[in-house]
Amino acid sequence: SFPADAVPQAPEDPLFGLMAAYRADDFDKKVDLGIGAYRDDNAKPWVLPVVKKADEILRSDPALNHEYLPIAGLATFTAAAAKLILGADSPALTEKRTSSTQTISGTGALHLGALFLSKFFPGHPTVYFSNPTWANHHQIFSNVSMPIASYPYFSKSTKGLDFEGMKQAIADAPERSIIVLHACAHNPTGVDPTQSQWKELAVLLREKSHFPFFDCAYQGFASGDLAKDAWAVRYFVEQGFEMCIAQSFAKNFGLYGERAGCFHFVTGPGADAQSTIGRIASQLTILQRSEISNPPAYGARIAGLVMNDEALFKEWEQNLKTMAGRIIDMRKSLRSKLEEMGTPGTWNHITDQIGMFSFTGLTEKQVLKLREVSHVYMTKNGRISMAGLNTHNIDYFAKAVDKVVR
Ligand code: PLP
Repeated sequence: SFPADAVPQAPEDPLFGLMAAYRADDFDKKVDLGIGAYRDDNAKPWVLPVVKKADEILRSDPALNHEYLPIAGLATFTAAAAKLILGADSPALTEKRTSSTQTISGTGALHLGALFLSKFFPGHPTVYFSNPTWANHHQIFSNVSMPIASYPYFSKSTKGLDFEGMKQAIADAPERSIIVLHACAHNPTGVDPTQSQWKELAVLLREKSHFPFFDCAYQGFASGDLAKDAWAVRYFVEQGFEMCIAQSFAKNFGLYGERAGCFHFVTGPGADAQSTIGRIASQLTILQRSEISNPPAYGARIAGLVMNDEALFKEWEQNLKTMAGRIIDMRKSLRSKLEEMGTPGTWNHITDQIGMFSFTGLTEKQVLKLREVSHVYMTKNGRISMAGLNTHNIDYFAKAVDKVVR
């Protein structure tokens, strides 16, 4: 009853396929630059010290149980999450026009937002993504039958932002389109607009009555500064935009598998803002109930505990600086090694880009050769996860790149 033309074989997820190939390789100097998860200087996953502490506090609480959370999640967590992204004194919070729902990490937040917009956004808007973007964006919005399109983002010649192309496409999009924006540390390119470019984008979105949907997966992880990485979102809120925000705590807390995330809907200011957000929240509750019933508790308890405790929060900020700082050091080191060797091409983009990833500019052919000859694993588009580099393998990687580029 399910022949191949009804259920064709699906392609393997490219990233998870890459991980499997890396694991199967028994070469001792192999390098994993594929998946976007932080690694310490010994290429090991890092449990944040503040997360360990919070974990011990939770486990020693005799009242801890495994009851269901409410449908919208752990209220102390979602309130702290909203404050974290919007800023404690945000008008969206003081005017009570934000609805926050705990989700299955950032992916779940994107999904809940996409589902809500597919049902309730007036008209049949097209959803615009940067080209390139995190590949899952396409699937998440297509799954809820929303039409998708893209705006130029990455300039192959400068390996920076194609700002003119981006603006043109956003200006040309039909009025009231949905524009998905990476709040910081763009995945996969590591290229973010500057603050003055964000301001121009806000003017453009306003002119066309576009609806921004911010995907924030790296707050604090990009620059090491939580407020700096939230700047664009806060600026758009200040400008009075109505918007969606998908917030992940996977990277900034190292809680990847615990699936801690939050979806925020912010309505614009106005007399009816509170009744609008009340109606929106009521529908989000119904959607959440039918999708996951209620979200997982553990990661939210950890993140909530840390965000609501002054001393733990400070410690978290230090842990963020450790992660962001190590990655920034690796960027500097890689660039200077390539420049010292006189590797053909320019390498300033390695330090200009920010966050977990760098778009190296290596071609697919070079990427495959790196894998074959040097056992270096990275995605075919030339993206490397900076967290996979460390003081033990960076020399080896730089030399391998030098060899493949010549
Ligand atoms: N959005 C972007 C741009 C990402 O890079 C990621 C993770 O890689 C996510 C969202 C969601 O991740 P998660 O569902 O693990 O929070």
